[in-house]
Amino acid sequence: MRTLIVSDVHSNLTALDAVIAQAEANGPVDGVWCLGDIVGYGPWPLETVRRLRSLEAVCIQGNHDAGAIGRISLQTFNSAAREACLWNGAQLDEEAHAYLEGLPDAVAVAGFTLVHGAPRDPLWEYLTGYADAMDALARVDTRDVLVGHTHHQFAFEAGGGASLPGPGGLDVTRDGGRLVVNPGSVGQPRDHDPRAAYAVYDSETGVLSLRRAAYDIAATQRAMEQVGLPEPLISRLSAGR
Ligand code: ZN
Repeated sequence: MRTLIVSDVHSNLTALDAVIAQAEANGPVDGVWCLGDIVGYGPWPLETVRRLRSLEAVCIQGNHDAGAIGRISLQTFNSAAREACLWNGAQLDEEAHAYLEGLPDAVAVAGFTLVHGAPRDPLWEYLTGYADAMDALARVDTRDVLVGHTHHQFAFEAGGGASLPGPGGLDVTRDGGRLVVNPGSVGQPRDHDPRAAYAVYDSETGVLSLRRAAYDIAATQRAMEQVGLPEPLISRLSAGR
């Protein structure tokens, strides 16, 4: 079984479709897990929710999803993020709204806990260091943890430290220390590589492959311009930060 793992798609359907196409080109994809922030920032919120629903993705809620449906205050968002989140929320129909509303903060599947930020603060914590990763593992019953939220692709292994992907990506195996893995952001990478980030988990080999897919960034930027989303959110896509 090969499972596609995506996070922080942020209404960037072009990027999501590129990731799906690349993952499928390398073998059959049997399922999709999504680590939250389906909407926010980008130009296609409704279409992105519909795509993930059509794939029957196992999804959790991110802070931008919660913001777009009015579950949390947008007070702590910066002004561009707030404006985009409000616009994203206004594009949702009743069904998409209800779908996002019904997403859990965390879910356990195949020995992984899926959470947007971190187990101690599912919507908000930015898990960036080894100590945070070990805290995350201490709080769950599953072997490993998958997180998003930082828009940085990385892996932490208990007893082994941190690993960052090289140009060809990164493979980590579930046969050593417990893992905390972030597949990176599909729709708005911030680790200075503008390509869409994702991971594939192969349950037969126990390998998580962290990869990147090139996509038509200009197409997403044009769509953002057309609907009047804030300029800084448009230009940052080409820089990957
Ligand atoms: Zn995000």
